[in-house]
Formats: sequence, structure tokens, C-alpha cells
Amino acid sequence: SVVTRFAPSPTGFLHIGGARTALFNWLFARHHGGTFLLRIEDTDRARSTDAAVEAILDGLKWLGLDWDGDAVSQFERRGRHAEVAHQMVASGHAYPCYASPEELEAMRAEQKAAGQPMRYDGRWRDRDPSEAPAGVAPVVRLKAPRDGETIVNDHVQGEVRVQNSQLDDMVLLRADGTPTYMLSVVVDDHDMNVTHVVRGDDHLTNTFRQVQIYRSMGWDLPEFAHIPLIHGADGAKLSKRHGALGVEAYRDMGYLPEALRNYLLRLGWGHGDEEIIPTERAIEVFDLGGIGRSPSRFDFAKLDNLNGHYMRLADDGRLTDLITPLIEAKLGAGIGDAGRDLLTRAMPGLKQRAKTLVELAESAQFYVAPRPLPVTGKAVDLLGVEGVALLTELAEELRPFDAWNAGEIEAKTRQFAENKGLKLGKVAQPLRAALAGSTVSPPIFEVAELLGKTETLARIADIAQ
Ligand code: GLU
Repeated sequence: SVVTRFAPSPTGFLHIGGARTALFNWLFARHHGGTFLLRIEDTDRARSTDAAVEAILDGLKWLGLDWDGDAVSQFERRGRHAEVAHQMVASGHAYPCYASPEELEAMRAEQKAAGQPMRYDGRWRDRDPSEAPAGVAPVVRLKAPRDGETIVNDHVQGEVRVQNSQLDDMVLLRADGTPTYMLSVVVDDHDMNVTHVVRGDDHLTNTFRQVQIYRSMGWDLPEFAHIPLIHGADGAKLSKRHGALGVEAYRDMGYLPEALRNYLLRLGWGHGDEEIIPTERAIEVFDLGGIGRSPSRFDFAKLDNLNGHYMRLADDGRLTDLITPLIEAKLGAGIGDAGRDLLTRAMPGLKQRAKTLVELAESAQFYVAPRPLPVTGKAVDLLGVEGVALLTELAEELRPFDAWNAGEIEAKTRQFAENKGLKLGKVAQPLRAALAGSTVSPPIFEVAELLGKTETLARIADIAQ
């Protein structure tokens, strides 16, 4: 059965490219009813941090990408990696190399001067270890094939090949006995029974070298799929400005995880012309064949559209929970159960317009802001002497009125405007300014209904002060 893995190096947050790689691996495993594993590639002790591990786990959890079993620490498995290197020496597929750093530097300088590619020349490849200098700890190098070529059939890149003369005898085990990344990845993928390696195409050249280790050990190769990287909207390599941020930055910008999942899926993968692909559908249709061969471009407008779509579908109580902390931070005060309840009831109207949770919070704040409500921008102009006088009169019309619902409030207001020989907008616009503090809001009679009679009349009274 299918086994995939996500293998991040914990040197920073879970960035958007990594999140997409994780998503593809997760979807492929779930599609096949297989297993999705998480391996933390923490062998670079100087650069790996616990905080980064936490950030990656949090990012995956927030995105809803659950992994099977416990996360594996690559560093913890270093003994096993060394064991494999020694087995390769014993079977003649690897050898100890005693060349000193000075010697290697001289070798490279010579190659450079001669205009040759700089690579290890294999000077210890066929030497007898009895010639080893005393007191020098060797590195272990792969005895790479020198003739022929290595071919990889990649699910995305197709058939890719390299002349073996291009491969050098890379280091498997350092002089201090620690394994290199190239060895660890292969041993772990083999031991974890990984059947499909899906990763960024920046790893494609590593694959040719990793294949040599599989062959030396007589292990079956996994299937490979190397995904093209993500570029910015302008086609340049993805930078911070383009959206090369951590997943938590997208959370903080107000995107829903299901929207980001849909967006990342479409970023480099397609199924006909489907744009809206909820996760259940994605699990049903995901395949490696749908991964595109050219770099995809990051596009915030598309992400916004998808996010708006998923917000409109989202449960109102959930949206309230998500925006309440944002509103409370802005107001510098709690909004209480009554505030939450009001927001939840107002949510069907509020969520029609917003593209992000941040926008949603901004547009919802007026409902729960303490009086007097600040009036901003063009709304101030609507509350001149004339506007205030009209509203004060309207308030007196509405005061005795008990059937407090949007339809009835609208009917009363229309009647009021008609009696004055005014168009409805002449009254409704100042009313919006008074109740919402701005010129945009959900339908204003709906707002009045939700605020309730007491609050509506109080807000009108406030502006008359
Ligand atoms: N640790 C590698 C990285 O973060 C991934 C290795 C792999 O997927 O094989 O780029």
C-alpha cells in the first residue's frame, strides 16, 4: 500500500512551498487509503531548533494535515545510518577515504586552475586501507559507478538521466562518524517503507546520487515525483513580497485553512477546469499525473476569492469565534456572550462581502463597539444638521413601534421618507452612518433589527448630541 512522507528540515517556519509538498503527499496517501508519515530532518544540529519543529507541527495541524504515527527524528536514527555505511564498505560499495582537508583543497585548486569541474578524484577508491596514515579518522565515501548512465522515471519530470561520469564519490559518513543528509534520507525512506517520494524539484539532482545508495544496498527504489517550485506573480523566484511566508502568516492574514488547502492544491495541480475543490473532493481525485511541469505562480487575488467562497460556506459560530479575538484586540475590551451572540446572528449578512477574516472583523466591529460609535470618512458628511434632524424625527416615529424587524422598520422608514417627499436613500444613508459609523454595511434595516430597538435609538440619540 502507498506510503508517503513529508520531511522538513526544522530550520524555520513551515513555508508555503513546504506546505504544498505536505499537502500533495497527504492527499496522495489519503486517496489510496495509505499512510502519510512525518520525518523531521534535524541532522543539521547547528540550524535545527525546537521552536522550528513546533512551528512546523503547528502549521500542519492548522492546515488539517494529520500524519500517521509519531513524527520521526532523523537525528535519533544516526546509529542506523552509520550501520548502513559500514555495510556498504563491507560489500565493496563504499570505502574509507583518508585524504586530509589540506590535500582536498589542493586538489580542488588544481582542478580549478585547469578549468576542470571540482570534484573528488577518487584517490582512496582503490587503495588498501593498510596504507592509511596513522591517527587520521577517515570519511566513508560512496564508490559511485563511473560508466553508463543513471535513469530516473519521474512522475512529473518524465525520464531524466545523468551520465555516471558526472557523479562523484560523495561522502556518506563524516570523519566524526555522523551521516550525511544524502545517506540519511535514503536509509530512512527505505526503513519507513516509503513507496512514493514527492518533493520539490530542487531535490532532483540529489535523486541521481541517492539512487546509487539504493542500488548498492540492493533495495527497491521508491517512485519519485519532483514538483516544480512556486514562483511569484511576476514569474521571479518566490520572495517574501510574493507570499513566501510561513503558514502562520496566512492564518494571521485571515485565511481559512480549507481555503489555503484548495489554493495550494491548485497551485501546481489541476483536474480539468475545477477551481473550487473542497478537501473531500481533492482526496477523491488527487493523482500524481495532475501535477504540472512548469513552475506555478502565486496569486493573492485567487487566494482571496477562494477564501471569500469558503467563508460564505463556513459555520457562523465558527466565524464568530475566529474574529472575536481580532475585534476584542481592536476595542481593547471583551465583547461578552451577548456580543458573540449578536455577531453570530449578524454573520449571514457580514460574510457575504469579506475576503479575509481580518476584513470580516473590521466590517463586524461596529455591531459590538461601545457607544458613542465613532463615525468615520464620508459618513461624517451624512450627519450634518439636516441628516441629524431627519434621524431625530425618524427616531420619534420608530419609538412607539414594537414589531422590531427589518421589514417593518423599512416600511416605516419608507413611509416617513415619502411623507417628507424624499427618496428612501436620503433617510437610509444617514441612518447607516449613525448605526454603522460608515457608508458601507450590511442592509441597514437588517442592522437595525439586529442591534435592537434600544441600541438603535440610542445610536441615533448619540449623533444628535
Ligand atoms: N529535508 C529536505 C528539505 O526540507 C527534504 C528532503 C526530501 O524530501 O527528501 O528540503
